[in-house]
Amino acid sequence: MPYEKEQQHIIEAVRKASLLTLKVRAAALSTEKVGREPVTAADFGSQACICAELKQAFPNDGVVAEESAADFLGLGNPALRQQVVDLVGDTLEITVSENDVCTWLDHGHGVAANRQWVIDPIDGTKGFLAGRRYTIAVGLLVDGEPVFGVLGCPAYPVAGADDGKLFYGSVGDGAYSVRLNGEEITPITVSKQAATALLRGVESVESAHADHSAMDDIRAQLGASKDHVVRMDGQDKYAAVACGDADYYLRLSPDKTRKERIWDHAAGVAVITAAGGTITDLEGHPLDFSLGKTLDANRGIIASNGIYHDQIVTAVKVANA
Ligand code: AMP
Ligand code: MG
Repeated sequence: MPYEKEQQHIIEAVRKASLLTLKVRAAALSTEKVGREPVTAADFGSQACICAELKQAFPNDGVVAEESAADFLGLGNPALRQQVVDLVGDTLEITVSENDVCTWLDHGHGVAANRQWVIDPIDGTKGFLAGRRYTIAVGLLVDGEPVFGVLGCPAYPVAGADDGKLFYGSVGDGAYSVRLNGEEITPITVSKQAATALLRGVESVESAHADHSAMDDIRAQLGASKDHVVRMDGQDKYAAVACGDADYYLRLSPDKTRKERIWDHAAGVAVITAAGGTITDLEGHPLDFSLGKTLDANRGIIASNGIYHDQIVTAVKVANA
């Protein structure tokens, strides 16, 4: 099985990081802004736990991750730094120092290797803070291609339970889901929905991240209904398409010059690809993950079950979005 060792180590690390984030949310811990984006103890704690595992299991691989030791040390509130140290120690069940947290946060950064782990410790921080969805996303690029991904989705709805889900997939070995507090592994695939009027979409909640009215125009062009669209934060959108809960994910920033960050997509792209779906940019070109921290060669995202992908690309063109 490809990426068996990666599955063994990283699914468990993402599970632990997901539980850490839930603990922070339950305690309503404080927030600071780093640049324009809000961060919490959970962002740093989640990344430190995942990178501690990477350092141990895959010490020579590179890492591209959203948070850094410099931002952690730059937190104005020392109590917030101590919360991170305590959370990481409790989660890993070892004694942890601030120095350990810094080492893990920066582990693998700038390492030139053909294997690069791409991490968003909390994708959709605004959703996390508002009590909505968010995702702990870890993807593996080999020679610039997303080949393995794990999505921790602590707020993904589970019928009859409230514990969320994990999704993972290796290209060539299919995709799977498991409950956050469960063991039973379910194979997942993209939907077979082939009627445009019934297509179910997912898109960002935040209007700063996604141009909702332009996306409505594309849907009108396609013949898909905007009544069948669910808004959610983070890479839960990729998970929804991968497991057939939705048929397509459209992402079109209101800022047409914006370049997407690779940690917002690498894990989700690996999982959707493993589940049999199709992903391109708005022009129908493949996403190029080999150009650094941003998808410099691409604008926007279309992820789908593949059946209507070309029609969506055409609808984008005709709607002139
Ligand atoms: P989502 O939860 O799908 O709306 O995406 C959250 C991600 O949107 C964050 O991780 C940011 O990297 C990204 N983001 C921030 N500003 C923008 C923007 N203007 N356009 C597109 N994405 C953005
Ligand atoms: Mg993000």
